[in-house]
Amino acid sequence: MNGSGSRKTSGTTKTIVTLSKTTSAPIKNSLAGKLLKAIRSVLPDAGRTYALHEPEFSGKEKEFLHRCVETTMVSSVGPHVERLERALEQYTRAKHAVAVANGTAALHIALKLAGVQPGDEVLVPTLTFAATANAVAYCGAVPHFVDSEESTLGVDAGRLMEHLQAQTENRNGRCINRKTQKVIRALLPVHTFGHPVNLDGMLKIAHDFNLVLVEDAAESLGSLYQGHHTGTFGLLGTLSFNGNKIITTGGGGAILTHQDELARKARHLTTTAKIPHPWEYRHDEIGYNYRMPNLNAALGCAQLEKIESFLERKRKLTGRYREALAGMDEVRLVEEPGGSRSNYWLQTLILAPAEEGCLPEILKQLHSAGILARPAWTPLHQSRPFASCPRMELAVAESLSRRILNLPSSPGLTGDTP
Ligand SMILES: *Cc1c(COP(=O)(O)O)cnc(C)c1O
Repeated sequence: MNGSGSRKTSGTTKTIVTLSKTTSAPIKNSLAGKLLKAIRSVLPDAGRTYALHEPEFSGKEKEFLHRCVETTMVSSVGPHVERLERALEQYTRAKHAVAVANGTAALHIALKLAGVQPGDEVLVPTLTFAATANAVAYCGAVPHFVDSEESTLGVDAGRLMEHLQAQTENRNGRCINRKTQKVIRALLPVHTFGHPVNLDGMLKIAHDFNLVLVEDAAESLGSLYQGHHTGTFGLLGTLSFNGNKIITTGGGGAILTHQDELARKARHLTTTAKIPHPWEYRHDEIGYNYRMPNLNAALGCAQLEKIESFLERKRKLTGRYREALAGMDEVRLVEEPGGSRSNYWLQTLILAPAEEGCLPEILKQLHSAGILARPAWTPLHQSRPFASCPRMELAVAESLSRRILNLPSSPGLTGDTP
């Protein structure tokens, strides 16, 4: 069914209700139509396409990029990299920020510095972007998938605690998976769509089971948990500045840590582990070419200057969606968890369990109307590379993945001047 047809059906609800006695399809159409109408009231321009998340360059981006070209400092040397790192430290209150090529590289190095070794297991939510688990695999380790909770969309602390109590034992201060006999080395929660995970719960689990806590804060720049920036609670945290994230450097990421020695090692490993010297090439281990180029950092410096404006307008957009969806019992708009401030990177709708069958039709109708909403990721334990990984019971993540709908979330959608 195309977009204009669906809008017509939404206006003739009575006929549909009558039809629904014989088939369930018209009921689904009616929810899709109702949602389309509600979302259209927030995104009214029928002639345009609304992407999920678009970057906005309304600050000093051109000026800073121009300076890179003028000075020829476009690559791994240049003042913007350090400037971005100091600005990130100031903004997040992490003692150190190390800028890198992308968020996946940040995760890879953070896990290495957390001591993750080949053969280890790392606790990872199954409901996340593939990069979280890929980075574990890059270390030769295996993701051990954990379930999510409805409220934060992040790792369910209570149920993970029960799982670890039942399935692991402490051997010489190490957490051993009884079934696989492998060391579970680290816990890698994600602040899903920008909503802070239950960090108190994560810290307690890390403490009780001798796990290193690393936070995947790729989506949560600007999100606070009890007043402190996400990504600064674990031993290490990681950010992403990909094109669809809340600020972008084109491609880029950062490692956050309070520890001097870890920051030094992160810088060393991401610059091919070269021993600093004016002319000699000497490397003391196998390193990586993971540093962020100056060109990308220049974009990041300009973007970070605008973050308060992005946050403010995204919060306003949430309010508009909330108003438009008020009174619809079939869906819930995700709100920031208590005690947290979310950056509202993505505006997330969750269908009631009874309505999950409607998601494909809703996506179809929104897309034909130019509203490029997206579902959540396919849970990673259901994807081929990770199908045989260890896991706990994952019913909530599986259910959420069938019910989540992310709506266009760009800060520019409020129409306010940046
Ligand atoms: C974007 C993202 C990453 C990876 O970041 P890139 O910069 O794209 O490599 C990792 N984890 C999560 C949860 C993400 O959303």
